[in-house]
Formats: sequence, structure tokens, C-alpha cells
Amino acid sequence: MAEAVSHIEQICAEKGMKMTEQRRIIARVLSDAHDHPDVEEVHRRSAAEDSRISIATVYRTMRLFEDAGIVKRHEFGDGRARYEETPSTHHDHLIDMRSGKVTEFRNDDIERLQHEIALAHGYKLVGHRLELFVVPIDSEKETER
Ligand SMILES: [Zn+2]
Repeated sequence: MAEAVSHIEQICAEKGMKMTEQRRIIARVLSDAHDHPDVEEVHRRSAAEDSRISIATVYRTMRLFEDAGIVKRHEFGDGRARYEETPSTHHDHLIDMRSGKVTEFRNDDIERLQHEIALAHGYKLVGHRLELFVVPIDSEKETER
């Protein structure tokens, strides 16, 4: 059965990385994921396709992809690392502290302001990381009651 080559697998091929069948599956799981999964979740999804894939293999493969700049690791405040395919365009993250749901956003005013702040301090901005930690407005009201 010929599965379509995932975007990450394509990048791995371009970088000349050796691709085993298990790596190929993990690459596809990551390419398909849009929810910034942690290693356990990547393992769960990979093992659903091939039960021989161990959590150790997922850890090793994620490290490999991360070192090659193919995936990006995030720490969203709860101590567990979460991953996404390195985005082609910049975005920031909004993290729901109740559910762990991650929403991607981009705001041109914020982008511009950051450049201005760097400039005002005599620097050229070369990168930034912005994470907004939020709770749903309704559940916040409930805890205040
Ligand atoms: Zn993201």
C-alpha cells in the first residue's frame, strides 16, 4: 500500500536523512497534526498505525527531527514539551490552561510593536516567542462564585 509522502518525510529526504518505516509513520503523524501534540500523543497516534513503535523510538525520532530543525518544541507552561512541524510563516500561540488547547494567531500590530521596542533599545529584532495563557471566560466566572 503506497501512502502519500508526508511533508516532513519530504524534508527529511531533502536533508538526506535515513528513513525507516517507523520514522516515516512518525513523520506523517506530525505532518498531519495541527494541535501541537506531546510525545505521548504522537506515540499514541503512531502506535495506532504500527503497534511496534515504542515511546523510546518516538522520543529518539522527535529529538532527531528537532535537531534537524524539522519540528519545533514548545513549553506551554505545564512542563510537558509539545511539538509542531516548523511553520513556514511565523505565528504566535494562545494556550487554554484548562484544556491545553492551542490556538495559533498572528497580529500585525503586535509584530510591528515588537520591532519598534527592539529598535527603541538600539536593536534589530531577529525573532520572538509570544504565548498567551488563557482560561475560558465562562469557567473563570464559575471559580469566582
Ligand atoms: Zn503553532
